[in-house]
Amino acid sequence: MTNEELWQAVLGEMELSISKASFTTWFKSTSIFGITENLLVVSVPNIFAKEWLEKKYKTQIIDAVQQYRREINTLSCRIGNSDPSDLNGIKKQKSDHNANVVADIKRINNSQRSFSKQQPQRNTYKSNLNSRYSFDSFVVGGNNELAYAACRSIAEAPGKNYNPLFIYGGVGLGKTHLLQSTGNYAGKLNPNIKIRYVSMERFTNELVDAIQKSRAKEFKNNYIDLDILILDDVQFLAGKEKTQEEFFHIFESLYQLGKQIILSSDRAPKSIPTIEDRLRSRFEGGMMADVNKPDLETRIAIINKKLSEKNFSIPENVVEYLATNIYHNVRELEGALNKIVVTFQLRNTTPTIEDVTEMTKDVISINRQKDLTVSKIIKSVGDFYDVKPEEIVGKARQKKVVKPRQIVIYFLRQELNLSFPEIGKSLGGRDHSTAIYGYEKVTKELENNLLMKDQLKFIKEKFIEY
Ligand code: ADP
Ligand code: MG
Repeated sequence: MTNEELWQAVLGEMELSISKASFTTWFKSTSIFGITENLLVVSVPNIFAKEWLEKKYKTQIIDAVQQYRREINTLSCRIGNSDPSDLNGIKKQKSDHNANVVADIKRINNSQRSFSKQQPQRNTYKSNLNSRYSFDSFVVGGNNELAYAACRSIAEAPGKNYNPLFIYGGVGLGKTHLLQSTGNYAGKLNPNIKIRYVSMERFTNELVDAIQKSRAKEFKNNYIDLDILILDDVQFLAGKEKTQEEFFHIFESLYQLGKQIILSSDRAPKSIPTIEDRLRSRFEGGMMADVNKPDLETRIAIINKKLSEKNFSIPENVVEYLATNIYHNVRELEGALNKIVVTFQLRNTTPTIEDVTEMTKDVISINRQKDLTVSKIIKSVGDFYDVKPEEIVGKARQKKVVKPRQIVIYFLRQELNLSFPEIGKSLGGRDHSTAIYGYEKVTKELENNLLMKDQLKFIKEKFIEY
């Protein structure tokens, strides 16, 4: 029996014995990494699956394995099985369309190799580029790989493909970083190229200024002279008719001349209110790529990258703590990290989990509150105890359901600060006295039940996954 066959057999057993939701959540993308004597090492996609398998399913997995390999009696999980080329090779595509685009980009990149070997030089044209940003310092993950690939391709062959490129996504997710890096790299590859990076806000202010000084024509000429125009935060155009008008003409001129235009926005063109249809259709007419929130592994990679840039190291568990708890945007993550690095460089000591917990408690609690909801709490508690959300809010009174229900009550109070009547209402219209009873029961039990304390801590860490 090969390891693969063994794992298939184990998966078959597990699938029968746990809920479908748990099975797909925790066992998809797992495989056997190796077996040494009595130890089974399983590859899992992330730290959550690792903890979940090691804590909750360990006995069941080992029981299943022992049917085939009696000697195995311990289990350990290791995160990831990915080879590093995965990131740049862009294997995990969201859709066939994206896969095609990426294949295209790779082909173009290959054919551009000779071009990219040109002597790198600094581009001194008034470009507004900030040399702090580069592709090298950008961490590529599933959340941004399409945008990254498009930017690189454009830097190597501006105006040739994907014109305009429209990158959109929430704040602090790396749009400006990508735009600036594209400009920097294009300038490095071809020092004669005229590039300008400008935020839409600044563009608007300069335009207004030019109009007041009767220099609108000069303003426009300055722009149509460019080879690459990079406009950041174009959502700022919303409602600005005059700017839209001028911008449209600049856009058209550049486009007709085959010059590259790169745009970013905090939302997709169709969601920018009050912009002219003709502009919207231009924005949508090239390539659109979104950037999303990075997953846990990417967040860990980002932290490690920033640390190596700063030549500072912090313990792995602290890195994991930060990456696990700050997940809304990279800017916040970077902010927290900077604070830690500066503080501990000064003290010349190594930060511990306790130090970091204390230093980041504000940003972390904001992160949690931002998206923790009643239904997420119900669902994560339910998944842990294999009880359906309907059962938790339903009428059933078996022990199997009552305990998770009380734990939900506890979390609703503790994490969301709900009042007891609100908690009762959230749980299928129960009386507030039920909520009080449940809350007190759990609080009391936590005082001397260490296992339960551990379980609750674990469930709480899971909230963000839901
Ligand atoms: P946006 O323009 O989308 O609001 P930024 O590009 O300003 O976001 O990114 C915020 C901060 O996070 C910047 O300091 C940037 O360098 C950093 N950052 C964002 N994404 C990444 C990434 N994938 N790799 C490295 N740093 C990143
Ligand atoms: Mg930005």
